[in-house]
Amino acid sequence: MEQTLTMAPSTPVKASEHAYLVEVFSAIQGEGPIVGTRQIFVRFLGCHLSCAYCDTPATHTKQRQCRVEQTPGRRDFVELANPVPITLLLEHLHKLETFPGLHDGISITGGEPLQHLRSLRTLIPAVKPDFSLYLETDGILWRNLEPVVDDFNLIGMDIKIPSATGLQPYWDEHRRFLAIAAKRDVFVKVVLTRDTTPEELDTTLEIIKDVDAEIPLILQPVTPYGVVRHPPSPEQVLAWQSRAKSVLKRVRVIPQTHKMIGQL
Ligand code: SF4
Repeated sequence: MEQTLTMAPSTPVKASEHAYLVEVFSAIQGEGPIVGTRQIFVRFLGCHLSCAYCDTPATHTKQRQCRVEQTPGRRDFVELANPVPITLLLEHLHKLETFPGLHDGISITGGEPLQHLRSLRTLIPAVKPDFSLYLETDGILWRNLEPVVDDFNLIGMDIKIPSATGLQPYWDEHRRFLAIAAKRDVFVKVVLTRDTTPEELDTTLEIIKDVDAEIPLILQPVTPYGVVRHPPSPEQVLAWQSRAKSVLKRVRVIPQTHKMIGQL
């Protein structure tokens, strides 16, 4: 995820283009295979799901304001009115990159950022020359991925399992999504709870294997939050990893590390 910095967007952006945001800040990536890298997080507002373990409740309520960090890592937020003009967002992104190479890239996250296709289609060409772009998505809105898939350097997609989310399964949507995302560098993350069933894990493995058994799978033991009170047991995690490695080549267990070290 290399990048160089230029201080002005190379693609002109119309003043009428906006984005609905929750927050923009500089932090250490705490999940997935690029854990530990420094990123600017652009968190979009709103999500079409309501996972039981969701740790970003602010994305689910209408926010008149969003917060934007001024100095990387200082948490000196200022509030901006929603929707934020993308020209103003670009100014703040470049302001956070206080020296070239501070950030390994921008994490486009949410909520579900693919609900904001129009904003993404404006934002991406303007930042892409300067930053590596990482999409964090729930892996369901495959129709919205298609037009922007080539613009992301890395895609991290969830496979949502009902025993963890408390929601219906989205197997078919995940299949379609992964088939498109596999054009790029992609990994799959699945949040596991102590109620995860062998059948859910097997379906997840089958979806990935059918596209490419080399696609990395991250098993993320749930971080207790809200109504989810207990993580899976160490024995469960070991058993799931063994089961997954019997089908896929690249399986790692990575918990949410940013919560262990008090990061956002
Ligand atoms: S997809 Fe992500 S943001 Fe949306 S409800 Fe689930 S955990 Fe929360």
